[in-house]
Amino acid sequence: MPDSPDPEANDAAQRDFAAQRESMVTNQIEMRGVRDPRVLDAMRAVPRHHFVPAFQAASAYHDAPLPIGQGQTISQPYIVALMTEMLELEGDERVLEVGTGSGYQAAILARLAAEVISVERFAALAQEARERLADLGVDNVQVVVGDGSLGWPEAAPYDAIVVTAASPEVPPPLEEQLAEGGRLVVPIGQRWTQSLVRVRRKGGRLKRETTISVAFVPLIGAHGWQQRGETRL
Ligand code: SAM
Repeated sequence: MPDSPDPEANDAAQRDFAAQRESMVTNQIEMRGVRDPRVLDAMRAVPRHHFVPAFQAASAYHDAPLPIGQGQTISQPYIVALMTEMLELEGDERVLEVGTGSGYQAAILARLAAEVISVERFAALAQEARERLADLGVDNVQVVVGDGSLGWPEAAPYDAIVVTAASPEVPPPLEEQLAEGGRLVVPIGQRWTQSLVRVRRKGGRLKRETTISVAFVPLIGAHGWQQRGETRL
């Protein structure tokens, strides 16, 4: 969002956004059970209004996803926090995000891990996300353009992988690119409703846990959904 030319008005707006973030963390995220203090701090710190179209800034801290262009969305704050918590980041990880969108989740991950590779299929969204991240001085996120259902083998293996679009199955390349001890969080199910699944690689085996119901935009790609229609590739 552009700064106001009036520094006092700008300071007041920033204080108002900070208060909205605090309320978002308390009432939307902690209240629903997210407890990891590092995740909560990151959600308090990252200016979500910077990642939505300017006309949506007043709604940036609402308990809802918002449109970001190209028919895509920035996910609901609680879901961003929950998926991030499920990755169990400690600070030294290399993380793959599939579905950069606005770049907001990547900015959260950047505060909690050493390095983030984020793949987006729309070049225009990828470029906007790069610019937003650069504006905030985030320098440990690499945004790349491609079909993230294939992962990003160049930088594999990953300690954590998060997919922010819904897939009919866990994309096999993502499981293959998961490091020993790694966690993969992905919405799996039907086109309009899914369950959040966590896959853990332990002792060379993959263990799956299914958690809450969610509704994500589709993962479009070789291991997601076709561009048109409901048929799996
Ligand atoms: N994480 C994003 C954020 O913080 O704004 C929200 C992501 S939005 C819910 C899902 C994104 O996944 C969209 O930007 C969409 O274009 C992208 N996407 C869908 N299929 C993809 C694929 N195969 N590879 C990479 N990105 C994909």
